[in-house]
Amino acid sequence: MGALRFDNRFTRELPADPETTNQPRQVFGACYSRVKPTHVAAPQLVAYSKEVANLLDLSDETCASSHFTKVFVGNRLLKAMDPFAMCYGGHQFGHWAGQLGDGRAINLGEIINQRSERLVLQLKGAGPTPYRRSADGLAVLRSSIREFLCSEAMVHLGVPTTRALSLILTGERVERDMFYDGHPKLEPGAVVCRVAPSFIRFGSFEIFSARGETAVLKELVDYTLRTDFPHLGPPTPEKYPLWFEEVCRTTADLMVHWMRVGFVHGVMNTDNMSILGLTIDYGPYGWLEDYDPDWTPNTTDAMGRRYSFGNQPQIALWNLVQLANAIYPLIGRIEPLDQALESFQQRYQKRWQNMMAQKLGLKSFEHGTDEILINELLSVLSLVETDMTIFFRRLAMLDADADKLNEISDDALMAPLESAYYLPEQLTPEKKTRIGNWLRSYIHRLSRDATPVKTRRDNMNAVNPKYVLRNYLAQVAIDKAEEGDFSMIDQLLDLLRYPYDEQPDRENFAQKRPEWARHRPGSSMLSCSS
Ligand code: AMP
Ligand code: MG
Repeated sequence: MGALRFDNRFTRELPADPETTNQPRQVFGACYSRVKPTHVAAPQLVAYSKEVANLLDLSDETCASSHFTKVFVGNRLLKAMDPFAMCYGGHQFGHWAGQLGDGRAINLGEIINQRSERLVLQLKGAGPTPYRRSADGLAVLRSSIREFLCSEAMVHLGVPTTRALSLILTGERVERDMFYDGHPKLEPGAVVCRVAPSFIRFGSFEIFSARGETAVLKELVDYTLRTDFPHLGPPTPEKYPLWFEEVCRTTADLMVHWMRVGFVHGVMNTDNMSILGLTIDYGPYGWLEDYDPDWTPNTTDAMGRRYSFGNQPQIALWNLVQLANAIYPLIGRIEPLDQALESFQQRYQKRWQNMMAQKLGLKSFEHGTDEILINELLSVLSLVETDMTIFFRRLAMLDADADKLNEISDDALMAPLESAYYLPEQLTPEKKTRIGNWLRSYIHRLSRDATPVKTRRDNMNAVNPKYVLRNYLAQVAIDKAEEGDFSMIDQLLDLLRYPYDEQPDRENFAQKRPEWARHRPGSSMLSCSS
């Protein structure tokens, strides 16, 4: 662990809560409260990410040591650590929720690695903090497995995200009422060590603005500019709009990625929006199986569907508006903020169009014709239950000659897509005709590009993953782990290292959701924090 070089800038440069007891409270005029992780009975390492260990210059030998387990469960503090919980607020489901903060996340400190990158180490589930409100500060194995696996899967998909170093069982039981329906159960407790350049959220700024603590707000904004946006130069009020514009850009890009891979965050409250445009706080997230823009994995949101797949870009914009309101007191002018919000819309639209063109293997998005092609595709995908991931992957296998389309039946055209359909009986003759017609117009469009089939296939396979963390796969790994068999966690971690590659001996992980998982809790239904 000697390789870890600490530089705890957050606690050094920002105002601390003067109170040091670990009582739930409102914390005013401070960005954080110092708090230590709670000692646990019998920590046991379940898994770690070699890639993140590498980022931190930690060897495999170190990660396998009992010292590592003790440190990353929170039982042993290194001398240079300065543990703290952050104060933030947030809009939850569209309403201002006041102070939230790290209720169960404890930052151990910041590392500068050998590549001079700054990385914050944060334990999730390591015990209560002053921000816990009435909750226990703990996390259970099932949600920790989901966070650990998904954050690493996202990296390999090329989606910006916080990382996960380790997943450690605490050896203690945690009571959870999974669906808040009066049926609590004791579950294994666990701690994930998350790693990111910064865990600052939109809500980190909102709290100071809401309380009229403009001086602290300015300190935090200046700190963020100095630490995470150094390319903007020294922080001055003229830089604030440029900074906000950059947050709009990275957030727009993140939304395009989520829409590309079929990821639904599930709880896009402003406290779950990273200032760096990273996917953060893996809770009731899910992966689209059958393409349905209205789908949300979050049962808490089943009525409003605020955070459904298709709503995500608009919600990101809504959240950016809240951030703009929060920093407005430092800028005092609406126009530059409005302009940046406007640029979000434009950037998102343009990048989404390009992304869809790439998914289809087109050289570029052509205005006029491609809007129609893509709109009809989205209708066709919703026509019958169609697995989004399999559909795009199989679409690359299409190999038809535009000149001979008259001679081909719809059935023959659709043959490569067969495995994408959940309920073949839904494919009535009219629906087949509509899908067939779309495929015909797509093939005509491809012929205009004249990209060689092999090149098109490779291009499509580079943006359309074959393997994603299907909801039921995570659930099977959880079921096994709860029985003491952790093998599937490592198996999935390894599978998801190469999501765009064919992995012939792992075809089973690329198949559509089995019927038993359709209504299985944990696999199709999840609730907020657990
Ligand atoms: P989330 O929905 O996971 O983003 O959490 C919203 C807020 O509740 C954050 O401030 C979390 O820190 C806090 N929170 C969630 N679960 C717990 C828990 N078990 N103990 C303490 N705080 C929690
Ligand atoms: Mg959160």
